Amino acid sequence: MNIFAKIIRKEIPADIVYEDDEILAFKDIHPVAPVHILIIPKKDIESIATLESGDALLIGRIHLVARKLAEEYGIAETGYRIVTNSGDDSGREVPHLHFHLIGGKNLGPKICM
Ligand code: 5GP
Repeated sequence: MNIFAKIIRKEIPADIVYEDDEILAFKDIHPVAPVHILIIPKKDIESIATLESGDALLIGRIHLVARKLAEEYGIAETGYRIVTNSGDDSGREVPHLHFHLIGGKNLGPKICM
């Protein structure tokens, strides 16, 4: 079982900032910016590569949660980046779909985090 599955099951602690029946959001343990939150589906989805068409609403809801958190953490006006990694070349560490919400500083022009 991967680390995010354990966080969903509350088997290991995390600084949870949002939770509902389908979605969990918690602070990244190694933040790259003043705001760095991971937003994940509770459903076992490995990455964008394994999404099913029935997941479309869930993925949309994750982005609405990201927007709400951006407002709560004061970066809605200054700007933020939402990043998800898929596959080996992305450097993805954890094989459970997750979206990084990053902001609170000038993130520069690069696409990567
Ligand atoms: P990836 O590179 O897979 O897109 O990102 C995985 C992220 O998960 C990294 O930014 C890493 O810091 C974070 N992370 C890894 N293990 C843990 C953990 O146990 N708790 C939390 N909160 N974040 C973690």
